[in-house]
This record gives sequence, structure tokens and C-alpha cells, in this order.
Amino acid sequence: MKENAPAMTTATAIIDISTLVTNDPSLGEGPLGLIQDAAVVIDGDRVAWVGESSKAPATDSRVDAGGRALLPGFVDSHSHVVFAGDRTQEFNARMSGRPYSAGGIRTTVAATRAASDEDLSANVAHYVREALRQGTTTLEIKSGYGLTSQDEARSLEIAAAHTDEVTFLGAHVVPPEFADDPAAYVDLVTGPMLDICAPHARWIDVFCEEGAFDGDQARAVLTAGVRHGLTPRVHANQLTRGPGVQLAVELGAASADHCTHLSDADVDALAQGDTVATLLPGAEFSTRSPYPDARRLLDAGATVALSPDCNPGSSFTSSMAFCVALAVREMRMTPDEAVWAATAGGARALRRTDVGRISPGARADLTLLDAPSHVHLAYRPGVPLVAAVWRGGELI
Ligand SMILES: [Zn+2]
Repeated sequence: MKENAPAMTTATAIIDISTLVTNDPSLGEGPLGLIQDAAVVIDGDRVAWVGESSKAPATDSRVDAGGRALLPGFVDSHSHVVFAGDRTQEFNARMSGRPYSAGGIRTTVAATRAASDEDLSANVAHYVREALRQGTTTLEIKSGYGLTSQDEARSLEIAAAHTDEVTFLGAHVVPPEFADDPAAYVDLVTGPMLDICAPHARWIDVFCEEGAFDGDQARAVLTAGVRHGLTPRVHANQLTRGPGVQLAVELGAASADHCTHLSDADVDALAQGDTVATLLPGAEFSTRSPYPDARRLLDAGATVALSPDCNPGSSFTSSMAFCVALAVREMRMTPDEAVWAATAGGARALRRTDVGRISPGARADLTLLDAPSHVHLAYRPGVPLVAAVWRGGELI
């Protein structure tokens, strides 16, 4: 006799799931907590029940997954989608042999400043929808193309209309009008600009890199943010072996993003601290640069997240599935590690416990693949495998 859970009349059961990724090892096999022939019950905006299909409780409505795989919605902890303008020509030039430098950001700054609120907002909505269609149900969004107090504040307000995960990145690059006096720009970012921006953000970020902000400047930005109640995350060690990772770990940042050029001490710091190493392989792909050494980080015990780093300059993709494929093919992550990094890893990088897992109490953010297994995300690169997406219990 089957032991079924009590009936849940207001809920919806998704049945006949071939492989369910719960990311809860107490519910299934391995670190992904895999359950074969599974069902998930969602009630309102939450997951109410998870288990084998044959034991699913009675519900009023049912969705047949048709023997396909279900995984948590992707958690993308790093995007720059508040922008205007187009950098096709820069990309085209770079693909014809010119290396990427941080200065290209200034092109987008000019276009963003010139754009209306309505146009910026429509652009953000477009990329949030684009990511959602591809299975991304949580998307962090940064400012960083305004670089005046007013333009940064409006960027954050527009981002906040689309996500809870808003990051103030006034310290993205020194804008042209401060080229002769970068210290004055740091004073602005840590002073009046922060005063009007902090109420609209949860996070503070800085591009700690040659050509952007050095270690001392980055420290000033992040500590000022902390004093205003923001939590740090850092663009660290993307182009050179700089001080960003050490600073991120020392300040208890949620995440050190890029981590492409790491010393042994950087790897040790990430392995021992609480700071997630967020790898953004779309940037290396789009700039023909060497990928971060994910294997070295994982083997040392660091927590790794993946993100597409959607931005108009160095990585103009919103596809987490593409990053999973890159992570497996180019960065020697296993398919399980890459799927974990794209879901639970992203949640860690945003210090969220309600997303990145499918277990009772989690937000009902679910991605159904048109494939029998999550491994197909890497096995079938470039194929649009997302068949359905639920966000907060709502079928999109
Ligand atoms: Zn970035």
C-alpha cells in the first residue's frame, strides 16, 4: 500500500518528473539531492511537498512533466542590464584582433546618461524577460553606467522595479569628467552619491582592476557602503592578479566575481572564507581570454557560482545554460557542479536561502527542461531546452 501525504486541495502537483534537482542532499542522491520519477507540489508561491511521484499527495490540479527534468530556477547574481546604446562595433573590432580594456564602459555611460527613464526601464524589462524565458528566476542587477549621483540613483530605482537584488556600482569606472582627478570621484562615490543611492540598493560593488579602482580606492568604496548598511561584492581579479579577492574576503563580501587571475593565497582565502567565487565565463568567451580555473577553486574547497555577467561590452549574453555548458566544456566542472553553481551557488552569492533549491518552504521558482536530465544543459550546448518556468508559483 502506498503511503501518500495528506491531500492538498489548493495546490498544484507537477508529476512524472524524470530527474528532479532539489539541491537538498537530505532529499535525494548526491550534492544535487537528485530524485528520479519525482513530483513537486507547489502551493501559492512556495514549494509544499517534494518526493517520489507515486507518493504525491492528492491535489486539485496537476501538471504532467512528461518524463522531463525539473530544476530550481537559475539564480543569476551578476548583471549590468541598466544601460542604453549598442557596442556591436566594439565587439566586431575586438573579434578582429583588438584586446578588451575597461575603457569601453565609457561608451555605454554616455548612451545611458542620454537615455530617458522610460527607455532605460524598457531595456531592463526586456533583459529580465529574456533571462526568465531561459530559466533565470532571480536576477541581480547593478547600476554603474550612470556615474553621476542622479544617473546612478535613477539606475538603481529602475533596477529595483524589476528585482530585489539591487547593487550600487558607482565605482564601475572613473567617468571622463574626473579623468584628471580620480580621487575626487572616489570622494563623490563614497560621499554624496552614496548618500542618495544607498536607500535604493542592497549591495555595494566596485571594479577593482588596473584602469578602474586600485585596492585602496576599492576599500574606501566598500567600507563606505558598509557604513550605509550595504553588503559588499567585488569585481575581483578579472584582468590581472590584483588585490580584489583578498579585499573581498577580508571585508566579508558575499561574492568575489570573475576570479580569473588568482594566486595560491587568493585560492586559499576563498576556500577558507565565506566569500563565494562567482565565475563569469561569458566574459572570457566574448573577449577570447583564458577562463578561470574552476577546478582549482573547487578542489581547494571554495564555493563556486556561475553567472552570464550580462552587459553590453564584455559578455552580452543572458543565458545561464550557455555558462553551464562553458563551465563543463572549458572549465572542467562536472555537469552536477555546474548546475549546482548556476542555482544553489548563485543563491549563496546573494545570501538567499529561499531560492536555488526545490524543497518544502522554498520559493516555487522552477525550470522544466525539454530533456530527461539536467546534464543535457551541458550535453546539448546552444539548444533552447527550457520548456516551462514557474516564478513564485506562477507559470510564466
Ligand atoms: Zn560585472
